[in-house]
Amino acid sequence: MPTVAFHTLGCKVNHYETEAIWQLFKGQGYERVDFDRESDVYVINTCTVTNTGDKKSRQVIRRAIRKNPDGVVCVTGCYAQTSPAEIMNIPGVDIVVGTQDRVKMLDYIEQYKQERQPINGVTNIMKNRVYEELDVPAFTDRTRASLKIQEGCNNFCTFCIIPWARGLMRSRNPEDVIKQAQQLVDAGYKEIVLTGIHTGGYGEDMKDYNLAMLLRELDAKVKGLKRIRISSIEASQITDEVIQVLNDSDKIVRHLHVPLQSGSNTVLKRMRRKYTMEFYKERVDRLKEALPGLAITSDVIVGFPGETEEEFMETYNFIKEVGYSELHVFPFSKRTGTPAARMEDQVDEEIKNERVHRLIELSDQQAKEYASMYEDEVLEVIPEEQFEGEEGVLVGYTDNYMKVKFQGTEEMIGQIVKVKITKAGYPYNEGRFVRIMDQPNLTEQVTAIS
Ligand code: SF4
Repeated sequence: MPTVAFHTLGCKVNHYETEAIWQLFKGQGYERVDFDRESDVYVINTCTVTNTGDKKSRQVIRRAIRKNPDGVVCVTGCYAQTSPAEIMNIPGVDIVVGTQDRVKMLDYIEQYKQERQPINGVTNIMKNRVYEELDVPAFTDRTRASLKIQEGCNNFCTFCIIPWARGLMRSRNPEDVIKQAQQLVDAGYKEIVLTGIHTGGYGEDMKDYNLAMLLRELDAKVKGLKRIRISSIEASQITDEVIQVLNDSDKIVRHLHVPLQSGSNTVLKRMRRKYTMEFYKERVDRLKEALPGLAITSDVIVGFPGETEEEFMETYNFIKEVGYSELHVFPFSKRTGTPAARMEDQVDEEIKNERVHRLIELSDQQAKEYASMYEDEVLEVIPEEQFEGEEGVLVGYTDNYMKVKFQGTEEMIGQIVKVKITKAGYPYNEGRFVRIMDQPNLTEQVTAIS
C-alpha cells in the first residue's frame, strides 16, 4: 500500500482542507503515516499569512525532502498559491498546487512518477468564481468538526495578503453544506464550526440566499446536530436577521468572534476596514441586548503603521467599553506585498511590545470577569482531550467558549457533558462533572472516581 504523510501550517481552513486532500488519497488506496516517518508521498499544506508563515513552510518542506529524498514532495496551500516559483526553486520539491485544483494532485503524482519532471500546477486564483467542492466526512483526530462554507475575500484590508492567496468570495452551495453537516453529525460530531476565509460573508455572492438563511436551514434540517458555531463574523455581517436567528435557535452557540483590529477610526481607515467604531459598537450593543450573556471574542492588531499613543488609547478604551470574553492581541507584522508593509512611520518594536502587554493585561482581566459570571453554574461542555500532565482530567469548551477542565473518563470525549463551574479563571475554568447528556447512568460511575 503506498503511503502519504501530511503537515499542515496555519489556520482552521488549511486543517480542514488537509482532511479533504487525505480523503482523495484514501480513495486511491493510500495509507496515512506520521510526518516524521519515511513516506512515499509528502503533502505540505502551507501558510502565508505572515512572513514567518512562509519561512516555517520552507523549513517543513526541507524536512520532508531530508526524510526521504526519493519520496514525492507535494506543496500546496496559500504560500504555494502566492509564490510557486520560490517553492519550485527548493531542490527536491516535485509538485506545487495552490489553493485550487487539489483534485488534480493525485494525477500529478502519477505524471511525476512517469516523467520525473517537476510540475507547477498553480493557476490564477483571481479568475476563479466557483466554490471548489471537496468532501470531508470525518476528521482524523478531532472532536470539533469544521465545515467550510465559503472561500476567498473581497475586502483587501491593507495589512492582509489573504485575498491574493485565496481569491475572491465564493460561497458553497447550501445543499452541499447541509449534506456535509449531516454526514459529520452521523459520524458522531456534536459540534460543527462553520469556517471559511471570510466566514460571515457567506452568501454575499449569491442572489436570493444569505448567512441567516443557511443558519436556519442547518438548525432545522440537520438531524442530531447539537451545536453550531460560526468561526468569525464581521460587525457589518451581523444583520438584524442574523441576530433574530441566533435568538430563535438553541443550537447556535452563545458566542461570536467579531474581529475588531482597531478601536480607532483613523487607524481603521488606514487599515481599509469597512466600519467605524461607532458602527461596530452599535452592532455589538444590539447583540448583547438580544442575547444577554453572549460571549464576544475578537482579534486586535497593535502598532499598525502610524499608530499614535492617542490612537492606541482609543482602542484600549473601546475594548474596555465593549467587554470581550477573550481577545487575541497581535503586534503588527509587515507582510511583504501588502500596502501596510510599504507605509511610512512603522511603529517601534519596543512600543509595540509595551502596547501588546497593556492590552493582554486588560484582556485577561475581562476574560476572568466574564467567566466569573458563570461560577457555580452548570454548563454543557464537550471535552476534547485529556489535559496534559494531569491524569483523568479532561478539557473542553462550553457553548459560550469557556475552556473548562474537570475530572472525567475517556468515553466522555466528544460527548456533551454537564459540568458545574467550581472555580472561574482564565485561560482555564475548573469544574466538576455532573452528568453526561442522554446517558444518565454514567453519573455514578464517574462520581465514584472523582
Ligand atoms: S477581511 Fe481583511 S483581514 Fe480578513 S481575510 Fe479579508 S482582507 Fe484579510
